[in-house]
Amino acid sequence: MANLENGTFKKLDVVVVGGGLVGSLEALFLAKRGHRVRLYEYREDIRNTPQARGRSINLALSIRGRTALREVGLEDHMINNHGIPMKGRNIHRIDGSTYIIPYDSRTKQCIYSVGRNYLNGLLLQESEKYENVERFFNHKLIASNLRKGFLSFQKTDTKEIVEVNADLIIGADGAFSAVRKEIMKQPLFDYNQKYIEHGYLELCIPPDSNGGFQMPPNYLHIWPRGEFMMIALPNQDCSWTVTLFMPFTHFKSLDSEDKLLKFFEKYFPDSIPLIGKQKLIADYFAGSASPLIAIKCRPYNVEDKALIIGDAAHAVVPFYGQGMNAGFEDCTILNQLFQKHHDDLAKILKEFSDTRWEDTFAISDLAMYNYIEMRDLVTRPSYLLRKAIDDVIFWLMPKVWIPLYNSVTFSTIPYTQCIKNRQWQDKVLNRSLLFLGTVTSAVGAFYVYKKFVGLS
Ligand SMILES: Cc1cc2nc3c(=O)[nH]c(=O)nc-3n(C[C@H](O)[C@H](O)[C@H](O)COP(=O)(O)OP(=O)(O)OC[C@H]3O[C@@H](n4cnc5c(N)ncnc54)[C@H](O)[C@@H]3O)c2cc1C
Repeated sequence: MANLENGTFKKLDVVVVGGGLVGSLEALFLAKRGHRVRLYEYREDIRNTPQARGRSINLALSIRGRTALREVGLEDHMINNHGIPMKGRNIHRIDGSTYIIPYDSRTKQCIYSVGRNYLNGLLLQESEKYENVERFFNHKLIASNLRKGFLSFQKTDTKEIVEVNADLIIGADGAFSAVRKEIMKQPLFDYNQKYIEHGYLELCIPPDSNGGFQMPPNYLHIWPRGEFMMIALPNQDCSWTVTLFMPFTHFKSLDSEDKLLKFFEKYFPDSIPLIGKQKLIADYFAGSASPLIAIKCRPYNVEDKALIIGDAAHAVVPFYGQGMNAGFEDCTILNQLFQKHHDDLAKILKEFSDTRWEDTFAISDLAMYNYIEMRDLVTRPSYLLRKAIDDVIFWLMPKVWIPLYNSVTFSTIPYTQCIKNRQWQDKVLNRSLLFLGTVTSAVGAFYVYKKFVGLS
């Protein structure tokens, strides 16, 4: 175990900054390899926090995330004891009628709704099984010298300063990463951030009077309304976390109870009795819409000393349900590189940084596209026709023709390859349509010729 140095094995001293989903998982991967891991988290232990903090309350877990959880022995638990399967999109029209678009009509694969707090707590709980993992909550990273492996934290309660040194620093401290801010000082660091003009606000559909679900539970429910949309994911307690995505200008204009109710009566009438008028008003005005940011940057490493992963490296908008899944995939890939390079940090960090960015840039673009698909395209006949064609060819040739959503969500094909496959499929379909069009025109022309010219 651990890295070969002058012929001897050495355990690495690793500091993971950020005890969110990705940092907690990475700590487990490193602990499994026998390294000493110290996990520093700004906030208090999520296991002692009753409410989900910020961000989404529940998330869609799919194959990339599951694969990583499998490696640390937690997949079965998450799928069998906690996750709620969602086998397709349940689309709500304005008149209240619904229709279903299955994710995978061929092999019936599904995504799973999981609680953020539950999953984060489970990962932290699992780390308690390893003597080589220490957890430090209420520690905020305030300064660092990454090249020297030096970090300075401030305790949020006592304000005491804690200084630590490490062989390797992993920055898993989210979209506004302090580790990344330090990496940005390096020459040749590329950075691009984009706030989209839409924000999100979370509402809730409570359980019915018998404690059951008020809507069919095994779907991701969507109210697509063109420029904006609302979605709902099921929770373990039979409630639904409802997320309204729309332009900030719309949020701003709904500044009175009357305007809010009129807006919901116009666009989401079937949701009002589900949420309850008073609850809708209370929840809407209790918070304000949160922004959505996408970040692309590179390189992810500083020599053999520091690396950023998860949202710290590649925050994406949430519309493909891939942010956490991609972050978990980072951990899987990193673990494979530790294996491949026998814990040689220089090689591992360089290869991760050189190769991973293309796929994270790709999922960022796909996530932007999927917002348009979810809020608008799903209602269009052309989308439904294309989906039907994709499903039939996928059914006939499952190895050759994997539809885009399926390859992103139900396979570990690199995201860049998923896009290339789709471009190839588009080309094949366009050529086939052109061919069909040409043949139809030729037959038509022949028929006309025979009928009107050939007879004369
Ligand atoms: C509305 C919404 C819905 C989403 N839905 C999905 C979904 O369905 N599926 C999916 O896969 N993804 C989804 N995501 C994305 C997902 O939430 C993120 O990709 C994921 O949380 C990233 O995990 P992370 O650990 O990298 O970052 P974070 O979850 O942000 O965790 C970072 C941690 O670092 C800590 N930290 C920050 N600064 C410091 C510091 N200075 N010192 C110490 N610690 C620090 C924070 O307190 C936090 O605990 C969604 C996101 C949003 C906003």
